[in-house]
Amino acid sequence: MARRTDAHSDNLPGPFFVDRTCIDCGTCYQFAPATFADGGDHARVRAQPGDDAARLQASMALVACPVGSIGTDDKAGIAAASRAFPHPLAGDVSFCGYTSVKSFGAWSYLIRRSGGNVLLDSPRAAEPLMKNLEALGGVAMLVLSHQDDVADHGAYHARFGCERIMHRGDGIPGMERLVEGDAPIPLAEDLLLIPTPGHTAGSVCLLYRDFLFTGDHLWWNPDKGRLSASRAYNWHSWDQQLDSLEKLLAFDFTWVLPGHGSIHRAQSPAAMKAELKTAIQVLKGA
Ligand code: SF4
Repeated sequence: MARRTDAHSDNLPGPFFVDRTCIDCGTCYQFAPATFADGGDHARVRAQPGDDAARLQASMALVACPVGSIGTDDKAGIAAASRAFPHPLAGDVSFCGYTSVKSFGAWSYLIRRSGGNVLLDSPRAAEPLMKNLEALGGVAMLVLSHQDDVADHGAYHARFGCERIMHRGDGIPGMERLVEGDAPIPLAEDLLLIPTPGHTAGSVCLLYRDFLFTGDHLWWNPDKGRLSASRAYNWHSWDQQLDSLEKLLAFDFTWVLPGHGSIHRAQSPAAMKAELKTAIQVLKGA
């Protein structure tokens, strides 16, 4: 629970505030940029929400925060915000909110599909989210992009009986399926698992239609205005991560949906490939 007495001094005065427990995961300022901004090593309130839509968005960021660092004097909207996830992003894809401190606030996503719903990485095991997932048909498959973003996978398996899938390179005990090797693996007609080792030995991306879920392999950096990856936050092999980024040039997609960093949509698969090529060129010089 955020405390007003611990609030950062650079919050714009008003009902919403961020306190000093913030771990700067980025979730609030990526999800509700009209209210929250990056304050350097923490988030801050840049503008107080001015209407109901902005209040709901800010309250949903509060609910999504992994460490409860956002507070508000305006509690009226919190109940509605807690029931508002999964939040539709595009097509069948939604953001699950309820990020977990166990995965440093990584985003997880729901794909609603007739062949069975898929979770990409694990959100916090929060009852309002689980209830909504149940109402949407449950979870048939939980794909884990890598070992850092598994959060409450056990609770989701216990509740929905979903098959948990990850790469053996990062394999943690208890998975129903561990895939191996570097070749893409079809999980279903519309789901392709693409091993992209580098950030960790077992990092994978998931391709669904024109959506690529990238975990911590690739994201959009709004400050640099391009796709990016991090050598500083590489835990296995930077050279391998660069090779794995090049591997993605063989696939068509227009969306990049990461665990950390911003979401990006390109105009077309060709435009995405051009943007990816530019990023790789820059990152190779890093
Ligand atoms: S969501 Fe919470 S932890 Fe993450 S940046 Fe915002 S206030 Fe900080």
